[in-house]
Amino acid sequence: MSQLALLIELQTVHENLHVIHRDLTAFPPDLAALDSELKNLARKLEETAKALASARTQQATLTTSLASATKLEEFSKAAVKDAKQKVQFTAAIRELDDRQRQKAAVARPLKDIETRIEALDNARTEMEARQIEARRQFDELRAIFLSEHENQVAAEKVLLTRRAEIEKLLDPTMVVKFDRLIQQRQGRAVAGIDRGSCGGCRTRLRTPFLAQLREEKILFCESCQRIIYDPAQHQ
Ligand SMILES: [Zn+2]
Repeated sequence: MSQLALLIELQTVHENLHVIHRDLTAFPPDLAALDSELKNLARKLEETAKALASARTQQATLTTSLASATKLEEFSKAAVKDAKQKVQFTAAIRELDDRQRQKAAVARPLKDIETRIEALDNARTEMEARQIEARRQFDELRAIFLSEHENQVAAEKVLLTRRAEIEKLLDPTMVVKFDRLIQQRQGRAVAGIDRGSCGGCRTRLRTPFLAQLREEKILFCESCQRIIYDPAQHQ
């Protein structure tokens, strides 16, 4: 089999796979609803994990700050206890007051962040439980759906095998080029000529180009770069 014949077949395989893939992802409403719920849950879980990580970082910083504020408060308490004179005592009390205020200024946001962490954790647990249940329902319905599309599933397997075989027989750089064209040219990498024009982009082909094509070389459209061939020579 020539490289060109293989490329033409690969294009057909690709188109058939595309149709099958469309059929196999055209879920009935209940399955489609579960599918989007699962995607939604995955996204929300990811957001929650990020929010939790950032909250825990804040918690760690505030915990350290609270520890040093507590230590300072204890020093001040000791100073109050040790104060011998009234002046000393008044100053120590004022300092203790300040330090208690400083401690409260750290303790309040720490409490808030801890409340937030708890809420996030609960939300995550709930979402994970729902995810397991939705996944189970999805798998169950999808198995039924696939059993109803047995022919497509079997055909897909055959086509995937054939695609791998063809790709092995082709020049690897050609496979890369083919895949790139599939991506960039709406799933059509190979096009037949149609009344002197490229069947892909409709550009009129030059006469010397058409003459070259008759020699069965692999040629690329000068306009859209698709691999082109003469269908009259490749039935
Ligand atoms: Zn073209």
